[in-house]
Formats: sequence, structure tokens, C-alpha cells
Amino acid sequence: MLISRIRNRLASAVLACLCVMPALAERPNIIVILTDDQGYKDVGFNGSQDIPTPNIDRIAHEGALFTRGYVTHPVCGPSRAGLMTGRYQARFGFGRNPTLNPAVEHASIPLEETTLAEALDPAGYANLAVGKWHLGSHPTRYPRKRGFDEFFGFLSGGHDYFPENLTLQDMSEVKGHGDWYRTKILHNGERIEIDDYLTDELSNAAVEFIHRRKDELFFIYLAYNAPHTPMQATEKYLSRFENIQDKTRRTYAAMVSAVDDGVGRVLQALEDNGLANNTMVFFLSDNGGPSSNGSNNAPLRGGKGNYFEGGVRVPFAMRWTGTIPAGLIYDKPISSLDIFATAVAHAGPGAKIDKHLDGVDLVPYLTGANDGVPHKYLFWRGFKNSSQTVLSMDSKLIIHPRKYAQPMLFDLGSDQAETTNLSDKDSVQLIELTKQHELWNAPNIETTFPGLGAWFQDRNK
Ligand code: CA
Repeated sequence: MLISRIRNRLASAVLACLCVMPALAERPNIIVILTDDQGYKDVGFNGSQDIPTPNIDRIAHEGALFTRGYVTHPVCGPSRAGLMTGRYQARFGFGRNPTLNPAVEHASIPLEETTLAEALDPAGYANLAVGKWHLGSHPTRYPRKRGFDEFFGFLSGGHDYFPENLTLQDMSEVKGHGDWYRTKILHNGERIEIDDYLTDELSNAAVEFIHRRKDELFFIYLAYNAPHTPMQATEKYLSRFENIQDKTRRTYAAMVSAVDDGVGRVLQALEDNGLANNTMVFFLSDNGGPSSNGSNNAPLRGGKGNYFEGGVRVPFAMRWTGTIPAGLIYDKPISSLDIFATAVAHAGPGAKIDKHLDGVDLVPYLTGANDGVPHKYLFWRGFKNSSQTVLSMDSKLIIHPRKYAQPMLFDLGSDQAETTNLSDKDSVQLIELTKQHELWNAPNIETTFPGLGAWFQDRNK
């Protein structure tokens, strides 16, 4: 891998001499910090009153705060598949949370798709995945088989946070639904014991990698499972929130605060190594907050699992000091799909782009070089083609909302909380948005693999 990286770097350097391409020093490191089930309001930069997040806020205040940053699905796995490929996951049948059964090889991002790590590898990037994967449990689909050089984390869709709870050697010891939360942490190819609260361990892994590989270009996918259930926090973080009476909310606040400490340490590691200006840092949640973890999506309607704004519009910010302006508040809709497109656009000529990308390079929009609209439309498709949804700037249509008989059309410009259904009043827009969704959805495919509950059900047969 090292030899091929050097070779690729030389090839990149030669190309850089021949063409007008970004020189090696100008290509940024890339860090994507992803939280899990964090509510829209539960960051300082979106107005949280009870959970201070000064470090996460730095990303927004020293860069761009996206007031309308969307993910591609309101639950974990499909949202991550879209982010990791830069393509709507419905293109390749990733429409639900995949089973964690390691025998089901295809319950993953298909090998024909290119992950962001696979795209950056030939451009000479050292790639680290930390934390939650949930993009394939078969050994051929582990992070290190999908472009990452190193992995410190777990394959499941959530995890216990206390080291003493992590007693299962691997997936072969999983006997029932949720047991996978207690598998030992996977460090590259080995199961290891950890000493500290899981969120701190994940932060440690990212910080250690920055110090160790500071002289290389790197990409870090730092996928915290916090503040996803189970609700577990240490006294160090709980003690910061003695003013919060509700126990679930208090634990949630502590879990978010642990992430915030970790983000602070990551930013400090960049500064310690002189990398602050040469690193693109994204922060977002993978979907809206559910009711189970005490999250707050205000002022948005709905949450995790549905297609109201609270399900798919998330806390989202990006910093690239010296390149995009500090303190920018960007109000046009952008997508987690844009992370891939933005990263590869600035990674140099070696980056592998072999598929149509559904995202755009955000940088020209943030510098003001392009005052247009990043996305004329954004689209969503639920499991089994349910809840088809389309957004065109302020106009949003949910064609078959679950539990509701009629389509729902909202004007987000005047009705951010989606209180007034306009589908009876604006048939022109209803027809136009439906048509656009049909055009987008035509080549998409049905989900190709069993869901999260299937493994346990199979074992009980
Ligand atoms: Ca999630």
C-alpha cells in the first residue's frame, strides 16, 4: 500500500507539473465528523439553550453554517451509504438498515460503487474510519476492504459505551437482536479491549492518527455512535448537566458533550500540527433525532424515520479555514451527497471518480464564485418506494406520506414547521414535483438485502 501510495504521489506530482492542477500542498486533508441521531437544535450553532457545544460550534463559526443541510434518508444505514458514495443510495438498492448477519455478503454498499475512501486512495490519501460502520458486516465489506487503511470501531448500527459491557468476541457470539451492541472493538484486524468510555476512545483514535500521519494527506471518517441509544454516559459528562431534570435528556446532553470534547481535541490536534488551514472539516448528524434518546429537532416537524424536516434536515457545518469565509450562514439547500463531490474536487487529479455523482462541490458556492443554486431538486425514497419526497428550494412534496392518505405539499419559506398542507391549493406544483420525482426515481432499484431484524428472526426459525 505504501509503495503504491508513493507511486501515486509521484504520478500526481508529474501530472501537477504538466497541467494546472492544485499542488500537493494545496490539497486539503478531509475530516468528516458524523454524529448519530442528533437533533437539529442540539448544537449551539442552531440555538441549543441547554447543551453547550463550543467546539462543534467552532466549525460553523470559523466556516459555514448550513441552515438547510439535508441527509439522503431518515435512518442510519441508507443515509451513510449516500454520504459514503456521493450518490443517492436508491441507485444501488440500499434502502433500509442492512442486516448485521456476517453471512449476508450483499447487505452492504455494492462493490461496484466507489466509497469516498476508495476515491481518495489513488490520490495518495491515508484513510481512517473510526466508530460506527453499518455499511456491511461480511469480512469482504469491512472498512479496510472499502478503501480505508485503518479502522477503529464496530460494524453494528449502535454500540454500548462502557468498556465492561463489551464482552462478545465477535459477531459469531451474537445470539439475539441487539447483542451486537456488546461486541469488542475492532482495531484493524483484531478485537481489542478498551479502557475508556467509547466516545472518548473514538476521539483518541482520530487524534492519534492525526499526530502519527500528519506528514501525509489524510481522510478521517469519524463516525461517533453518540447520541444514539443505549443512553449511557459517565459521571464526568453527566455532572455538567445537573440542571436538566429529565434523565434521558440529561444523559443525551452528556453524550453530546462528550462528542463536543472530542471535536475540540481533533481541532486542537490539527492546530498542534499546523494543519488547521489545510484541512476541510465537515460536521453533521446522519438523520434527525428520534423521541427515544431525548433529542430536540425544534423548530422542525417530525424526526428520525420520517420525511418531515425533522427527519432529514440536520445540524450541518463545514470549515476550510483560509478558503471559505468564516462566519458564513448559507441558507440554500445542500446535501450530505455534497461531501464526496467537494472532497474529490479538491483532492487532485488522482482521485477516482468513475460514477455520476449526485452531489456538487460546495466550495464555489461558499466563496461566492457561484451565486446559483447547488441543487434545483433534492429527492428521497423510502423503503419499498414509500414516502417519496422532493424538495425544490422552498417547495416540498411528500407524495405518499406514511400514515397519511393525501400527499403533503409545504411552502418552507413561510411554513418551516410544515403545518399547512397546500396540496389542494397548488395543483400545478403538485403535478410538477411529482413528475420530477418520477423522472429521478425511474432508474432506482428496490432494496436488495434483508433488514436489521432479519438475522434474529432467521435464528429463531
Ligand atoms: Ca442514525
